[in-house]
Amino acid sequence: DDFDKMGLKKNLLKGVYGYGLEKPSPVQQRAIMPLLNGRDLIMQAQSGTGKTAAFVIGILQKLDRSVNATQALILAPTRELAQQTQKVVLEIGQYMNIKCYACIGGTKVSKDVKKLESGLRVHVVVGTPGRLLDLIKRGALVMDKIKILCLDEADEMLSRGFKIQIMKVFEHLPQEGIQVVTLSATFPDAFHDTTKAIMGSNPVKIL
Ligand code: AMP
Repeated sequence: DDFDKMGLKKNLLKGVYGYGLEKPSPVQQRAIMPLLNGRDLIMQAQSGTGKTAAFVIGILQKLDRSVNATQALILAPTRELAQQTQKVVLEIGQYMNIKCYACIGGTKVSKDVKKLESGLRVHVVVGTPGRLLDLIKRGALVMDKIKILCLDEADEMLSRGFKIQIMKVFEHLPQEGIQVVTLSATFPDAFHDTTKAIMGSNPVKIL
């Protein structure tokens, strides 16, 4: 299949090609349509497979630009990964006039608060679990319009001890109609416990 057979919005498709992607990678071939169909998804994916573009395309297609609110939340284990992912969102979304912001530990939380409370809501927020939870507790990150949650490198987040923070972030999301996408290279027991708690009963599995 090709990117232009997927029913992507015109400005998204333009961004996909502008980012330099020509053909969907095998992981993208399997993941993008279920994502667009609103399915929960568990993806076994290492770096280098095109996993990031897969979930970023799914997220960007779901955004409603007329809604001035955060609609997608991406959790990442490290600052570096969060920033890399933010870059991919901004590059693939470059013709969509969307905002994406990275909230990461080790920077001033007041800066994040200001950005998130500016009234110009950020459509996509990506961040590390601890910082995101902090911003939720401060009331700066408003979650009520979020419709897709993505856990990138879930095994890595769990091995760094983020399980409780992930669960707490999840508890602040709307409890109806959230699409959950989880990416992981490995599937430790903690992974199964966590996904069971936050996912619908019938996720698509790409292994
Ligand atoms: P990731 O799996 O997200 O770590 O992506 C690894 C690399 O693959 C990145 O540099 C992407 O730009 C690149 N990439 C993603 N999708 C494709 C594709 N469909 N064709 C060629 N390269 C891709």
